[in-house]
Amino acid sequence: MRNIDHYIAGLPFASGERQGDVFNPSEGSVQAQVRFGTAADLERAVAAAREAQPAWAATNPQRRARVMFRFKELVEANMEDLALLLASEHGKVVADARGDVQRGLEVIEFSCGIPHSLKGEYTVGAGPGIDVYSMRQPLGIVAGITPFNFPAMIPMWMFGPAIACGNAFILKPSERDPSVPVRLAELMKEAGLPDGILQVVHGDKEMVDAIIEHPEIHAISFVGSSDIAQYIYAGGTARGKRVQAFGGAKNHGIVMPDADLDMVVNDLAGAAFGSAGERCMALPVVVPVGDRTANALREKLIPAIRALRVGVSTDAEAHYGPVVSAAHKARIENYIQMCADEGGELVIDGRNFTLQGHENGFFVGPTFFDHVKPSFRSYKEEIFGPVLQMVRAESFEEAVRLPSEHEYGNGVAIFTRNGHAAREFAARVNVGMVGINVPIPVPVAYHTFGGWKRSGFGDIDQHGPEGVRFWTKNKKVTQRWPDGSATGENAFVIPTMG
Ligand code: NAD
Repeated sequence: MRNIDHYIAGLPFASGERQGDVFNPSEGSVQAQVRFGTAADLERAVAAAREAQPAWAATNPQRRARVMFRFKELVEANMEDLALLLASEHGKVVADARGDVQRGLEVIEFSCGIPHSLKGEYTVGAGPGIDVYSMRQPLGIVAGITPFNFPAMIPMWMFGPAIACGNAFILKPSERDPSVPVRLAELMKEAGLPDGILQVVHGDKEMVDAIIEHPEIHAISFVGSSDIAQYIYAGGTARGKRVQAFGGAKNHGIVMPDADLDMVVNDLAGAAFGSAGERCMALPVVVPVGDRTANALREKLIPAIRALRVGVSTDAEAHYGPVVSAAHKARIENYIQMCADEGGELVIDGRNFTLQGHENGFFVGPTFFDHVKPSFRSYKEEIFGPVLQMVRAESFEEAVRLPSEHEYGNGVAIFTRNGHAAREFAARVNVGMVGINVPIPVPVAYHTFGGWKRSGFGDIDQHGPEGVRFWTKNKKVTQRWPDGSATGENAFVIPTMG
């Protein structure tokens, strides 16, 4: 059995009595064991980071950027291996795994421009002989805690900018698919990153708690489910850390009567069922406006959903693969039962789906409910599986209200040909990321990503200019130089530039 070790000070580090199983979700079998670390293991990583970080911070930003350039080339050269490794532990199909790596790489590309992003502000002559300027300095040792569903993209979203800014970064990836994060750290070393600047510690709550409690870790970026996000936000900020914590989601796709329904069906199939619905920017709720729209959409959706091909992650023809674990499969199937019990019309039932030759794989067939009501628990909660719920709205106003009143506020999309309706919707909806005829509105790397309400705790978003702000502190300098004209006048009055 393969063991997945921590990656500390540029080397694999094996420790810990506790281990976790890493599955191959397509087969339902255990393929590796991952170490579950302790506070002592974290201490080892912090010691290496403490040693390495000052010199890294003092390295000029252009040289730090060159490591990012080389890393980008290495990831591209290793794309196929990374995608296969990722798919084998996560279960998503290989083409989608390549996308996972690529969307992370785009933040590395942004990080290649760090010399420019880190430039401060300067005012010459803010007062007589006085200049004011600012500089962005790294925080020191920082950490990231990531979910299973994007094991390449989300770590890169965090460590790219954090490291480019001059920090030492400790990553605690999901224990369910931990191999790719370790591989990325190895490639960073190969790209020229000094040992101790990017380290990987594995584990569960015990390791996360050690990170929250460690006094030398100054910032935590978290992505995962909302209750854990809130726990980390509360625990980290109570200890004076800077924390951004992104949580779960229940994204709605609003379909106006004038929408291009063929486009909607195509987009919805991908956004609701792609990656088996295990995306925080999936579209698991569709809200057609008016019964005529709903009926027409339903008629087109049913054959499109029935035509979806579920397969093992290496099946190049498959639209999506298995879900991540047996426990998650059971959870999704419970939600399907719950929604049916609550009165939803189960139009397509994906339970009891088996794939010939892979009977133990964690597969869930595509599932479609109509006539779902906002009062259902299965609507209020995140299912995170290949389940699409249709909630019929009577009016545009109701369609704006549904996502706005939902406790999650990650993403939302509106499908329409009416520019005015789209504009109104984007301005009024109480959700952090909006797509207009774009089903998965994940902003590009040089913009920023972040949901609202229970989808995001903290004030600074992920990547782009906000990422640079999150991973640095801003120092403000006011300077003057003696010119022999000092009189001592006004020294006891608060200085003004008047
Ligand atoms: P999760 O919350 O179970 O795990 C995330 C991380 O927290 C993992 O590293 C895990 O080891 C750790 N963790 C788990 N339980 C813990 C506990 N009790 N105490 C401390 N740490 C704990 O999430 P997941 O199942 O890996 O990922 C899916 C979730 O992530 C979904 O809710 C999804 O919507 C969300 N997500 C959100 C975004 C976003 O940007 N908003 C992006 C991707 C995923």
